[in-house]
Amino acid sequence: ANGAHVPAVAIGSGYGAAVSALRLGEAGVQTTVLEMGRLWNEPGEDGKVFCTMTAPDERSMWFKRRTEAPLSTLLWLDVVNRDIDPYPGVLDRVNYDDMSVYVGRGVGGGSLVNGGMAVVPRRDYFEAVLPGVDAAAMYDRYFPLALAELQVNTIDPAFYEKTEYYRFSRVAAAQAEAAGLKTVFVPDVYDFEYMEREAAGTAPKSALGGEVIYGNNAGKMSLDKTYLASALATGNVTIAARHEVRSIAIDANGDYVLTVDHRDDANEVIETKRITCRHLFLGAGSLGTTELLLRARETGALPDLDEAVGSGWGPNGNVMTARANHLWSPTGLKQSTIPVMGIDDWDNPDARVFAELAPLPAGIETWISLYLAITDNPERGRFTYDAATDKAVLDWRLEQAQPGVAAAKSMFDRINKKHGTSYRYDLFGDDRAFADDFCYHPLGGCVLGEATDAYGRLNGYERLYATDSSLIPGSIGVNPLVTITALAERNLEAILAADFA
Ligand code: FAD
Repeated sequence: ANGAHVPAVAIGSGYGAAVSALRLGEAGVQTTVLEMGRLWNEPGEDGKVFCTMTAPDERSMWFKRRTEAPLSTLLWLDVVNRDIDPYPGVLDRVNYDDMSVYVGRGVGGGSLVNGGMAVVPRRDYFEAVLPGVDAAAMYDRYFPLALAELQVNTIDPAFYEKTEYYRFSRVAAAQAEAAGLKTVFVPDVYDFEYMEREAAGTAPKSALGGEVIYGNNAGKMSLDKTYLASALATGNVTIAARHEVRSIAIDANGDYVLTVDHRDDANEVIETKRITCRHLFLGAGSLGTTELLLRARETGALPDLDEAVGSGWGPNGNVMTARANHLWSPTGLKQSTIPVMGIDDWDNPDARVFAELAPLPAGIETWISLYLAITDNPERGRFTYDAATDKAVLDWRLEQAQPGVAAAKSMFDRINKKHGTSYRYDLFGDDRAFADDFCYHPLGGCVLGEATDAYGRLNGYERLYATDSSLIPGSIGVNPLVTITALAERNLEAILAADFA
């Protein structure tokens, strides 16, 4: 309520915020979660909570007039995107000058829209990226804890080998192996037993029904079913949806003062609330957390925040690309939306790449092999605050994506050479084979040990914490959700022991 004072607030409800809410709630700390997106629990007129990728409606995207799907065209035709009414849909695409970033909006954050691939990073790379973190504790305790809480499981290889829904993956894996590359199964939070029932026709289709980036109506163990459900069950956590934190200040007692807009579906402000709290956990994601902190520093509300806030940002080396297969290698009419395999060439010192074998569930045979490559791109961007628009602006230039494109190209050139195949140039606009201007894995902006101490406490202030993907400096070498979760578990344990005594 307006004027409320609460012991703890978590901003956002993605991985970092959800871990914070659960561990605070368990420790008996009354915690309010403020999430700008919707609570996705009520079916629409079609009886479903979320819409599919092939027939997107207003529920698909965050206040857009037209969908902005990652693959914009097919055969250069504008057949992918649809006009929609502006609405607080579940997927946002935040467009900066040379980089667009996909993020989830809703109670559960990115877990509502992501592929759920749950990969523990390689230990040597983790140690290089976050040298200040005790890797032994992470690998012995916090990674296993995160995997268990997130309900991570792995597809049954027997099901994978025979189902038509993973033909696209088997074709791409066999081609990679023939080119001398190593493939690995990738665990996921999607419930593979449920998926087998979808395939058998005994459960409603979700992953096998074209659902993922605009939400899954079943099967996916998103955060609302795991961490956030457990947090609510403590009785100490409340979640307020459609509550957007506009600004953070501090009062004479050292309490944090939040200005929060409660908005309706037309995005009109219903009420602007003032909420104060003793402990403030920022879990608004790499973009959201960094923007709130930059705004606070640059407007003078929290002037002592570190100069490092805003820097160390990267897209986890994301590069998307697609190959055209021969007519005798169809990739399948039916495709699961959940990737379960990757090409792991991270040991190649000239071109470190971990590429997921991505589906293209178009409902027609396309002969396309699609990939999301994660590369070791050392380039970093930086956010600055633009007072005129009151927004964070990303300084990342297109040429900074080049090291990632070069690495991905060397992997897929190898596969094309082996099989006499070529790239598809009709999918990403501008006749490009490599999509290097958008990402799914924004990381950094409030880097652990630079803008914060070793546990995410913001330098310059007390009882103020970053808990999410903003802590990871631009790259982690694999899909990031497990690392974000495990790091939050580690940080919260230390914070609860020391700051709530
Ligand atoms: P987020 O999950 O981004 O959550 C932040 C939340 O804060 C959002 O709900 C947002 O609405 C809210 N928020 C922001 N600002 C405010 C504000 N001012 N006030 C109130 N609320 C606010 N990762 C993987 O590991 N595996 C995958 O397979 C995978 N696939 C992906 C596919 C897609 C399409 C996308 C978009 C991402 C994917 N990711 C994947 C990435 C992963 O989802 C993110 O890395 C992760 O969600 C980031 O977690 P977070 O806790 O930092 O914040």
